[in-house]
Amino acid sequence: MKQRVVILGSTGSIGRQSLSVLESLPDHWEVVGLATGSRYDALAQQANQFRPGAIAVAHTDDTGSLTAALDYSPTVYAGEDALLKLVNEVAFDVVISAVVGVGGLAATLQAVAMGKRIALANKEALVIAGSILMPLAANSGATIIPVDSEHSAIFQAMHAGRREDVEKVYLTTSGGPFRTWSEEALEGATLEDALQHPTWDMGPKITIDSATMMNKALEIVEARWLFDLNPETITVVVHPESIVHSLVEYADGSIMAQMGTPDMRTPIQYALTYPERRACPSGRLDMCSLHKLHFFPLDKARFPAVQLGYDAARRGGTAGAVLNAANERAVELFRNEVIGYQDIVRLTDQALRTHHWKESPTLDELLAADNWARSEVAKCITC
Ligand code: NDP
Ligand code: MG
Repeated sequence: MKQRVVILGSTGSIGRQSLSVLESLPDHWEVVGLATGSRYDALAQQANQFRPGAIAVAHTDDTGSLTAALDYSPTVYAGEDALLKLVNEVAFDVVISAVVGVGGLAATLQAVAMGKRIALANKEALVIAGSILMPLAANSGATIIPVDSEHSAIFQAMHAGRREDVEKVYLTTSGGPFRTWSEEALEGATLEDALQHPTWDMGPKITIDSATMMNKALEIVEARWLFDLNPETITVVVHPESIVHSLVEYADGSIMAQMGTPDMRTPIQYALTYPERRACPSGRLDMCSLHKLHFFPLDKARFPAVQLGYDAARRGGTAGAVLNAANERAVELFRNEVIGYQDIVRLTDQALRTHHWKESPTLDELLAADNWARSEVAKCITC
């Protein structure tokens, strides 16, 4: 029987690559729902091709232009609750959670509460609300399979041994566009510089997160929740080739790595087919022509964002929500050229240090912390 798939964030980088994976295995998958933020024209095009029974667009209540661009009549949900309605009302087996930022949280939590399989790309959901999402999954029986390449690698490497024998996890990073830049040069880094990722082709927000290395900070918190890790056991290692996607070290010193070309279709497909593996449209590695792979320690002075990830993972409570929201807001301001590159981490750090931390927040308290951090960043631009 075909698995029925909903994609939240279908018009984005992960969403489009997910469709490419689904297209390559037409006997196994059926797209039953697609959801997006505002790009209704791209959504209509995808819907006309994949014919889901329902589609959703979050950032408008006016569905006129969307329905005019459709050549059939699916159910259309629009407005703030559109994704939540789609998840609640459409019959599905798997959701690919690929919205960027906090906008993906409510629908992802709902799919988790319903006990579904979640192919989770929206790392922000875990950073904000891992303390709620993971216990909810344990109760509902939901299966959460990471799409993030590092976490997919860790998930796979953890199948090589017993959980209690894991000593260390290495999170790899390419180092982003500023890997070799001096501190002085970073002072003048521009939006255009930050958008030039050397190895991955991704959406703009995560590309900027990769430049500041806030992406690694978010991934430390993500790993902490996904694998119930003590943050002290996580080491960030710079690996410019992006071939080794992350590593797990066991008690006997053996290190298990997952390798492959830097192509998100591999972890996306794995999250869908796990525990099976099938031929994938992504390219293959030619081991005989690799010759060398490089690994370096992270320069914490040039990339202070990473420490914020450790701090937030250690503190727990509302810290993840504040880290994520402050960064989201700061990235938005950087993209609008209101603040400079260095301000992103500075303002996020400031929000983390000044917020009223709560140890065991409810979802409403996490959302309140998120709101507070966004306004605090906007307020502190000139602090
Ligand atoms: P993109 O910016 O390319 O796409 C984001 C998608 O989310 C778009 O479909 C966008 O719709 C939709 N969206 C944004 N806000 C909302 C909202 N409030 N409600 C509904 N839909 C919304 O991002 P990426 O695909 O790069 O990233 C998606 C997620 O995957 C992020 O969490 C990222 O960290 C994670 N990830 C991405 C990787 C990558 O290679 N791209 C790698 C690892 C993780 P619209 O097009 O209409 O704006
Ligand atoms: Mg990643």
